[in-house]
Amino acid sequence: MRNKFKGTCYRCGRDVAAGDGYFERFKGRWRTQHVTCAMEYRARAKTSTKTGGQS
Ligand SMILES: [Zn+2]
Repeated sequence: MRNKFKGTCYRCGRDVAAGDGYFERFKGRWRTQHVTCAMEYRARAKTSTKTGGQS
């Protein structure tokens, strides 16, 4: 979900402008990350999984 409010990216620690990232529920709190950081994380997760269950 796109963030409606400005926040701090929990991956890189920088400010995230409203609409410039995603936010998600985590342990009863909302946390925000950049779209770019999320994509980078996904790409990294994908390459680290050799078998890849989803296809
Ligand atoms: Zn970030």
